[in-house]
Amino acid sequence: MTTLEELKEIYNLPLTTLILRAQEVHHRTQDPAGVQLCTLKSIKTGKCSEDCKYCPQSAHNDTGLEPEKLLDTDRVMIDARAAKADGATRFCMGAAWRKVYTDSQFQNILETVSAVKALDLEVCCTLGMLDVNQAKALKGAGCDVYNHNIDSSREFYSKIITTRTFDDRLNTIKNVRDAGMEVCCGGILGMGESVDDRLKMLLELANMDPQPDSVPINALVAVKGTPLEDQAFVDSFEFVRIIATARIAMPYSIVRLSAGRSQMSDEMHALCYLAGANSIFLGDRLLTTENPRQHEDRKLLARLGLHDLHPDTAREIHARSKEESEGCGCGHHDDEPAEEAAQPVLS
Ligand code: SF4
Repeated sequence: MTTLEELKEIYNLPLTTLILRAQEVHHRTQDPAGVQLCTLKSIKTGKCSEDCKYCPQSAHNDTGLEPEKLLDTDRVMIDARAAKADGATRFCMGAAWRKVYTDSQFQNILETVSAVKALDLEVCCTLGMLDVNQAKALKGAGCDVYNHNIDSSREFYSKIITTRTFDDRLNTIKNVRDAGMEVCCGGILGMGESVDDRLKMLLELANMDPQPDSVPINALVAVKGTPLEDQAFVDSFEFVRIIATARIAMPYSIVRLSAGRSQMSDEMHALCYLAGANSIFLGDRLLTTENPRQHEDRKLLARLGLHDLHPDTAREIHARSKEESEGCGCGHHDDEPAEEAAQPVLS
């Protein structure tokens, strides 16, 4: 069980030591030069009944966003094929809903999930709250991963969203796990929360059992018409510190740079990779906000000598690393010095 004090101690290390520590964990538990490439497609846009203060898709926020009904399978497949051709290994589909209803639209989504899965892409959905039967139906259709973020600390969460509780979020995450899907769960920095709130968010994630398979870390994109439109962009070094702390506290999670990358320089991207980030979303748009153009991402990855990370390769490395940290159990190595365990290095 990780404690807040332990996370604070890590976060406040000299940046040089923090990066070293994150790199030690990263080299032991991940492909150190691998970056997983994902694509996120909005399949139903806007008019969401939730009141998330950061979100241009909330019906409570007047951002001038053009709403779009649920896209049919054929339309989504155009983007899924393009994502695959561009080298993405995970295709994520997002619908701006408070919760999933078991209706014809859900049937439509199940068909779309199966069709995308048939392209041999990893499939992720983010559709709002869902019950365990809906989670099982998604899993049965071929959905590998479900994204549901906790957004921030429990305390700060209620300042940002009032239409559903932090515990509602945790309940959906439990339903996802119970259905056998992987969990993608993270949050947003730069909404006016304190560093303590950020660390408490990481604490909540790190103490999930098992820890989330992927942890998206977003930098708020302050969209005009949202209550957070005047928020300054998150401090670069504070962002990097959170990435490194996440890497150390959650060694086997894929840490994904998500929203806000358009406002980050190449150098900040490089620092994030050094701190242990190992996934990005490709494509010019991330749901409804801007994202770096794909050729820029490709160019930077090439300049840094980084390569595409296939999710199966990542899983193999995680399994091998866990095996090494636990010992193989054959009894032949009992007199050899034990490898340092690939557990969060918290002190
Ligand atoms: S639930 Fe999702 S789509 Fe709806 S307002 Fe919140 S962040 Fe936006």
